[in-house]
Amino acid sequence: MLTAATVHRFTNPLSLRTSRQRPAHIFRDESLKFGAPELSTGGRIVRELNEQRGRKKRMGVVMVLSQQHQHYLLGGIAASLLGLGLLFLLSRSHSKNESKQNGNRIRRSDEKFEVSDESGPDSDLADVIVVGAGVAGSALAYTIGKDGRRVHVIERDLREPDRIVGELLQPGGYLKLIELGLDDCMEEIDAQRISGYALFKDGKNTKLPYPLKKYHSDVAGRSFHNGRFIQRMREKAASIPNVKLEQGTVTALLEENGIVKGVSYKTKAGEELKAYAPLTVVCDGCFSNLRRTLCSPKVDVPSCFVGLVLENCQLPCPNHGHVILADPSPILFYPISSTEIRCLVDVPGQKVPPILNGEMANYLKTVVAPQIPSELHDAFISAIDRGSIRTMPNKSMPASPYPTPGALLMGDAFNMRHPLTGGGMTVALSDIVVLRNLLRPLDDLHDASSLCEYLESFYTLRKPVASTINTLAGALYKVFSASPDPARKEMRQACFDYLSLGGVFSNGPISLLSGLNPRPLVLVAHFFAVAIYGVWRLLLPFPSPKRLWIGVRLISCASAIIFPIMKAEGFRQMFFPATVPAYYRAPPALKHH
Ligand SMILES: Cc1cc2nc3c(=O)[nH]c(=O)nc-3n(C[C@H](O)[C@H](O)[C@H](O)COP(=O)(O)OP(=O)(O)OC[C@H]3O[C@@H](n4cnc5c(N)ncnc54)[C@H](O)[C@@H]3O)c2cc1C
Repeated sequence: MLTAATVHRFTNPLSLRTSRQRPAHIFRDESLKFGAPELSTGGRIVRELNEQRGRKKRMGVVMVLSQQHQHYLLGGIAASLLGLGLLFLLSRSHSKNESKQNGNRIRRSDEKFEVSDESGPDSDLADVIVVGAGVAGSALAYTIGKDGRRVHVIERDLREPDRIVGELLQPGGYLKLIELGLDDCMEEIDAQRISGYALFKDGKNTKLPYPLKKYHSDVAGRSFHNGRFIQRMREKAASIPNVKLEQGTVTALLEENGIVKGVSYKTKAGEELKAYAPLTVVCDGCFSNLRRTLCSPKVDVPSCFVGLVLENCQLPCPNHGHVILADPSPILFYPISSTEIRCLVDVPGQKVPPILNGEMANYLKTVVAPQIPSELHDAFISAIDRGSIRTMPNKSMPASPYPTPGALLMGDAFNMRHPLTGGGMTVALSDIVVLRNLLRPLDDLHDASSLCEYLESFYTLRKPVASTINTLAGALYKVFSASPDPARKEMRQACFDYLSLGGVFSNGPISLLSGLNPRPLVLVAHFFAVAIYGVWRLLLPFPSPKRLWIGVRLISCASAIIFPIMKAEGFRQMFFPATVPAYYRAPPALKHH
């Protein structure tokens, strides 16, 4: 949670820069202790190695690592040692931090808003145009509207969305919702409280509670129908008199001399109109048509989610997100209302079995159903038979903006990560808090060039939180997916067993995933601690050349998973944001009160 001091720094970006402290949105230290992990039985490893005998010959031949793997291996060993050292240091700082943390408690916003029937500003008088009223657009419109800006929101479809995305908000995202004064959007939508995750692998399971002890009792994850949540947020935004919410499809950005001046859009009635504002924020989601001129979109689609709704059944661990480490890739379950459970089945690749000819139903029944917990089996089959199967591509795209005067990107249009860890809304809401704090001291937004230069700091200030959540999502998806490679198998098992150790070994990773403590160094430390744990188990009770080789490959695989993701996120912005000049940029003009 934020202390009064951090809230103060937050509201004044200047003080943040002059004090050269790290941005306030990086939460305080998570308690970490480094103790000796328990050893797994050597028998399991021997059994597994015997099963892999068929591959022995091939592995013996490939004794020469490729240059790239050598690179990853060396990096991996260095990072592993660094990770161990860091975990040790963090464990020492734990006791010091605990007394500070005890004083930090959540403060809920007491503000109440009445829905206003007054019409909003004329479109040509708006300070900010927001394209799209999904999670990012509605939250942003409400936030900057509440700060007194005239906001014109143009949304393609104002009816309640019916989608399989954005249904589980992590506790870190819920904290952001409170900070924005939007937490009451969780009321009256039958949202379910989520207190942690339950992880299933090969018939075993382990509970991973969110480390929430030091927060207000209201703070937890929430899961719900995405459409109900969006409608509540739109309602809240529309309740601000200076926010105008209009149904229309934005067709293009209006650009003059390299400055975005507004948008052209088609109204519900089919009329072609133009709207102008000094700042246009594009929040048109993962299928964005407008981002092309504002960033260099490198979209990767590693898999798709197939969505079903289960009825009349109980989750094995109520109020928990469930992750099944299935073959070929994970399956998720979580409640979306008091009577419904969402199931998302990950299907690797960009294509899923066709639904219409029954291939999908067959795949779900024959490949997926045997791998899910028995408590959910019958409801899963009934959901398939009911036939309402939905699919969505799981996209990932690092943020790589072209800073453009007059325009900004937000939400999925700007940055995406694999939805396995449910981090998208947390990143979007966290970004909105950063942008709100940057815009607050500005009187007017008309000097497009200096505003653009100033807002470049946004890309660095957001990085530690966003890149940690993004990197974890990408890395965990790879680690949790099945692979015939013995090193990857070992890494997957080591990850499950590491998290099962509990204490700091589950609290650390879960505090990253939940957005409660999204710090890049903690992520790297735990990731390589898992790799070292895997190697250690391989070398016990006796290190054979084969096990040693798998251990070497494990470190190399771990490095090959995490380093490219971090490279795409930007090492410097991720780990040393304070060394980026834009971090210190001052606002062009301060607000006069
Ligand atoms: C399968 C899946 C599951 C996910 N699950 C989770 C989860 O559990 N937790 C989580 O935090 N994140 C999850 N995410 C990610 C999350 O859904 C997104 O990060 C989040 O919805 C992004 O919000 P947004 O406002 O950017 O986009 P959206 O919520 O998609 O909103 C975009 C809006 O823009 C409108 N629009 C589009 N084009 C135009 C146009 N030309 N003119 C006007 N309006 C336009 C659309 O109608 C829409 O209302 C998931 C993603 C996927 C793919």
